[in-house]
Amino acid sequence: MTFSGLRGRTLLAVFGVSAVVLLLAAVLIALPMRAQLLGAIERNLVAEARLAAALLQERQTDGSVPALDGEADEVGGLTSARVTFIAPDGRVVGDSAEDLTALGRLDNHGTRPEVLAARRSGLGVERRFSATVGTDLLYVALAVEHPHVEVVRLALPLTEVDAQFRAVRRSVLAALAAALACALGLAWLSSTLLARRVAAIAAVARRYAAGDFSAPARDPGRDELGMVAYVLDDTARELGRRMTELTQDRARMEAILAGMLEGVVVVNAQGHVILANDAARRMASPDGVTPGQHYIEVLRHPDIGAMLGRALSGQTPDGIEFSPPRDPNRTLVARAAPVATESAPGAVLVLHDITDLRHADRMRRDFVANVSHELRTPLTAIQGYVEALQDDEPPEPGEAARFLEIIARQANRMERLVRDLLRLARLETGQEPVEPSQTDVESVFTDVLTELEGALEAKGQRVVTDVGPAARTLRVDTAKLHDALRNLVENAIAYAPPSTTITLASRRAGGAFVITVGDEGPGIPEADLSRIFERFYRVDKARSRESGGTGLGLSIVKHLVEILGGDVKAENRRAGGALFTVTLPVG
Ligand code: ADP
Repeated sequence: MTFSGLRGRTLLAVFGVSAVVLLLAAVLIALPMRAQLLGAIERNLVAEARLAAALLQERQTDGSVPALDGEADEVGGLTSARVTFIAPDGRVVGDSAEDLTALGRLDNHGTRPEVLAARRSGLGVERRFSATVGTDLLYVALAVEHPHVEVVRLALPLTEVDAQFRAVRRSVLAALAAALACALGLAWLSSTLLARRVAAIAAVARRYAAGDFSAPARDPGRDELGMVAYVLDDTARELGRRMTELTQDRARMEAILAGMLEGVVVVNAQGHVILANDAARRMASPDGVTPGQHYIEVLRHPDIGAMLGRALSGQTPDGIEFSPPRDPNRTLVARAAPVATESAPGAVLVLHDITDLRHADRMRRDFVANVSHELRTPLTAIQGYVEALQDDEPPEPGEAARFLEIIARQANRMERLVRDLLRLARLETGQEPVEPSQTDVESVFTDVLTELEGALEAKGQRVVTDVGPAARTLRVDTAKLHDALRNLVENAIAYAPPSTTITLASRRAGGAFVITVGDEGPGIPEADLSRIFERFYRVDKARSRESGGTGLGLSIVKHLVEILGGDVKAENRRAGGALFTVTLPVG
């Protein structure tokens, strides 16, 4: 235990005060004690002297020295002191402590201070050291009315007084020592209890600081220290409640921000990032966003910087559309607004990725333009030939038949186009429900080839089918699989040269059902492989039109396969020709 701690200091203070009080009390008791004792003895001796004087006066002796000495011995026997009779000339004429023979050798007592005082005022009291006895003596001299004795003197050695005083002092010192020991014990007890309570309160406070707000196990009591503990408890519990609320609010806010597609960046008045969600990190900076960074380091775009600057100065700038320097293919819209809280002013930036929106928009516009174009071409042709037929000078009958044949072909083409467009629209809007059934793949192949028999024969093409042993049946929407395969075989017939072989195969691979359609045609240029599934995308427009294609076939195939839960890809065979692979899930 050190005296710098609360316990040591309390112990020191309580014991120090007790010790000072006890010492003071001891001194105050011991000091006047000797004087009081002496006073009492003195009063006693004076009374005894008066008694001795009275006895002397009462018994009228013959006045001889032996008689007076005998009287002195008798009176001395009655008192506790030595009795001396002094004649008017100062001679000692009787003494209880000396025998008769020694009286003559005694000094003349007439000049002794107490005797002189007795002669003067009737009573003389004197205390002095006696060389004869070797101790302090108390003398009381009393003037008497006696024919032979002028003064009666009583002498009492003060050794007794000192002995009594020493005894009292010993008792006082013993009591003082005992009291000091008790004071030390009490001081230790009270300081220990106090220190223990303060330590308990400190431990609870430390627990609160570490975030554990459970109620303390012990009752802290009702005194001032207990009140401190109660107030601490209440404050800590209130703090804990608010912290829980804050944590929940924060978690809720973080969940909302994390789930947002929009990027959110909050900056403080100095322009340092204090919050950024994942979307903002993805959109704004390849190196991520660290709280504390300046927004200029994060959003390396001058327009965004300027906009945030305006928002920080309290304005609400218009949103801007921009492409991040690191990813120019993306289009973002940024909006900034000031955050108007007095305690933490700043600005919030919201980033919205509209790349897909813009892409969809462009696709829609392209699509409308494409449809218009695709329809206008046959319409213009029909219109021209109809006008020619209606001409004032009608064409030759053979010519007219050719015109009508062209009109019919163009009308057919328009009909096919409209039919494909409607199918695509139905597939895209989910209007074609999937109806799976146990399907025999070989019979689907046979149906497709039977339907396209005429076209195959016209081009002198041959079809080889290869159905793997584990790939005979599949649970799938038969009609949709049939339509997809028919489209692919139609393309193979259209784009591969006459007298070539088309391969139609099925197999199981990696837990999936794989159907391939291969041909020996020119294949598809590598650059176009990823785009041929887009609507109206054709590698060679003239060739496609010539073959009667609408440019929507592969787009329909892709939609059909995706509805069936699979996917389709195009590649070129090493031996030449295109290879389309349809992968479908099993079961
Ligand atoms: P189209 O009606 O023009 O055939 P598709 O969507 O079916 O439209 O095909 C898109 C384009 O993909 C075609 O114009 C053609 O250029 C190319 N293509 C499709 N299948 C083949 C194939 N088997 N061989 C070569 N090119 C093909």
